[in-house]
Amino acid sequence: MGSMKTIPFLSLEAAYAELQPEIEAAVLASMRTGWYVLGPEVEVFENDFASYCEASYCVGVANGLDALHLALRAMDVGTGDEVIVPSNTYIATWLAVSQCGAIPVPVEPDIATYNIDPKLIEAAITPRTKVILPVHLYGQPADLDPILAIAKKYNLKVLEDAAQAHGAHYKGKRIGGHGDVVAWSFYPGKNLGALGDGGAITTNNPEIADRIRVLRNYGSRVKYVNEVPGYNSRLDPVQAAVLSVKLKYLDEWNARRASIASRYAMALADAGFLQPAVPIWASPAWHLYVIRTKAREALQCHLAAAGIGSLIHYPIPPHLQLAYSGQCHKARDFPIAEVMAAEVISLPMGPQLSAEDQNQVISILGDFKP
Ligand SMILES: *Cc1c(COP(=O)(O)O)cnc(C)c1O
Repeated sequence: MGSMKTIPFLSLEAAYAELQPEIEAAVLASMRTGWYVLGPEVEVFENDFASYCEASYCVGVANGLDALHLALRAMDVGTGDEVIVPSNTYIATWLAVSQCGAIPVPVEPDIATYNIDPKLIEAAITPRTKVILPVHLYGQPADLDPILAIAKKYNLKVLEDAAQAHGAHYKGKRIGGHGDVVAWSFYPGKNLGALGDGGAITTNNPEIADRIRVLRNYGSRVKYVNEVPGYNSRLDPVQAAVLSVKLKYLDEWNARRASIASRYAMALADAGFLQPAVPIWASPAWHLYVIRTKAREALQCHLAAAGIGSLIHYPIPPHLQLAYSGQCHKARDFPIAEVMAAEVISLPMGPQLSAEDQNQVISILGDFKP
């Protein structure tokens, strides 16, 4: 074998290189404003992102976990309350609930779409349930209409975890303004990623927006006057400046992801892998391209031997994490989440994955004999 070209799972260097002059100019301009906490750069980004999401308000916070946590606080979720979460998600979704002293109540996904199964939600509702927290996992929108209808029937609020869904559409409308609050992460690897941590919430509810604005800033709107016991969780202005640049390219970069996804879907149609099912009303942001196979370990080795990066999202479901060993979720309580953890594998996916690299991934996948 000659020198082998490696294909990373995701190249953040390539994303940076594509926009380098514009990002560096924005960072310098931001540093020269003399505003180092909140200020004009944050406000500009908040306004731009709210309009992008077709939502009335956006509040920038320090990261996606804080966006979820402060949103729950703003909806008065506290000790002993219950919040319905997917059994298969990144642990941040559950941790935000636990940070309020509330209990994450897991509901299994529809294994075809990987998203929370609305048909199973009502059985999980108790008198202590306050919020339903669907996740748009891997960038595919959850089925929001039945979830919103259940919330209305039981007088619950809906918080969406959209950390993987920047630019996704549900029934023709962008994610960002369907539920009571929508939480976002701008972690570098997300579809809209900063050069460090960042997060935000979007909402159409002025009271919730106002409460989160106060909570993120020590519970204060007038300096040294503290209305509530708040937090220090503010979107950094340098990151806001970077995000304002990258927001302009989000749709184009998502279109490249969608074209990679459709190439994978066509190439893998007959290869024996289980592919994500996309409902007709969904237009995913394709944060990740996740397939399933019982021969997951062998496939990952086969790809690695050819220099192709892949990742597992996620290898251990939250209910089996040591972090949740104190709660009474036992192994096999959530068999669909466990099947996913055992079988999923994420293929290289990103706006800078070249056509040549896509061909290479597809050809190596074609050689796989489980
Ligand atoms: C990334 C992510 C988060 C947390 O975002 P951070 O900015 O890393 O705190 C929450 N939920 C999901 C589904 C995520 O993918």
